[in-house]
Amino acid sequence: RLPDRYNAQPSVWVEYIQLALEHKPLNLGQGFPDYPPPDYVTNGLAEVTTGENVLLNQYTRGFGHPRLVNALSKLYSQLIGREINPQSEIMVTTGAYEALFSTILGHTNPGEEVIIIEPFFDCYEAMVQAAGGVARFIPLKPKKTTGTIMSSDWVLDPAELESLFNEKTKAIILNTPHNPLGKVFNQQELEMIANLCKKWNVLCIADEVYEWLVYKPYKHIRIATLPGMWERTITIGSAGKTFSVTGWKIGWAYGPAQLMKNLQAVHQNCVYTCSTPLQEAVARGFELELKRLGQPDCYFVSLPQELEAKRDYMAKFLSDVGMVPTIPEGGYFMIADWSALEKKVNLSEENDRWKDYRFTKWMSKNVKLQGIPPSAFYSEPHKPLAENYVRYCFIKKDENLQKAEEILQKWK
Ligand code: PMP
Ligand code: GLN
Repeated sequence: RLPDRYNAQPSVWVEYIQLALEHKPLNLGQGFPDYPPPDYVTNGLAEVTTGENVLLNQYTRGFGHPRLVNALSKLYSQLIGREINPQSEIMVTTGAYEALFSTILGHTNPGEEVIIIEPFFDCYEAMVQAAGGVARFIPLKPKKTTGTIMSSDWVLDPAELESLFNEKTKAIILNTPHNPLGKVFNQQELEMIANLCKKWNVLCIADEVYEWLVYKPYKHIRIATLPGMWERTITIGSAGKTFSVTGWKIGWAYGPAQLMKNLQAVHQNCVYTCSTPLQEAVARGFELELKRLGQPDCYFVSLPQELEAKRDYMAKFLSDVGMVPTIPEGGYFMIADWSALEKKVNLSEENDRWKDYRFTKWMSKNVKLQGIPPSAFYSEPHKPLAENYVRYCFIKKDENLQKAEEILQKWK
């Protein structure tokens, strides 16, 4: 039996993928595109295992395939505004998940505290627990609950945040653009977090997997670029999100060498090295995009444009049926308050403790539309804050978003 600090309950992903397999709803739950990634990305992978590339079927350098860490170094040196050493300041991981795991395990001693902003990507809490650390939570709260709500309306209480920092605080996890709210933290909010990190000598774990998915007029600001923050920040990215290939499970972390050493120690003893062909293909993808960075044909420019239309379409059809969506400034998820529709749902047919679980399960089975219950992204005492919400993913074919609209219209 696992020690109690490991959360042995099935995660929301394990449970809801099974639910989708059994009831075959239109799946707007787990975040992944239901349409093909760009051709050059998939063709790139097809090329790298045959012919002159045949040796790429073997192990590569443990902390990252040379061609990929070099490409990442070129990209992030530009974006961060300092030379990032590809050998000692970047590590390639098995998805952003492993980057988070290696960062949290590599830095947290038993009893140390890690501040987590709610709602949060659910594995953060389990990883802190696995390290023997103590998670301390602070919820983002909506300033308003009627009218048009943007994800920027969800804010932290500065005094509450400050009250969580103390001598035992090891790290804070910051996810921007945010899953599930789509919030893109602004300069002022980042400065508030940065100032507390500096005051208390705290590590910032910046989960920026949605760094390219930001809608106009918002801008993604990397907290590592704020004064005095490079030396205390580990930033995490994901090829799955960057190139719309979530099944590739290639991620990375970058930061100063003395912090990266602790990630390397975890990585070398569990994963050791990641898939060579996938890293080679991701490297080639970055090399191409580096040449057209910021231009209209750059995938990092065209993808958010494509998604913005899908976001607006979803916001409209959710509002039309009586839900109250929060319009995301980034990412590809939207949360919506469904409480006005409660009389249309027979929640007593489901046994879960939290209402959003009962709502989403009932909807998957009876209305055949699947979303994710956002209380999965809250600590136990704060789960009631999420009970009236559902999270839907909008990186889906237009025809499937239309189907979702039809399903909801027919049901309401
Ligand atoms: N962080 C966040 C906020 C996420 O939404 C996800 C889901 N993809 C991850 C990390 C994990 O990313 P990956 O699939 O690259 O492991
Ligand atoms: N990040 C994706 C989501 O939030 C996928 C999660 C997962 O596969 N565990 O839906």
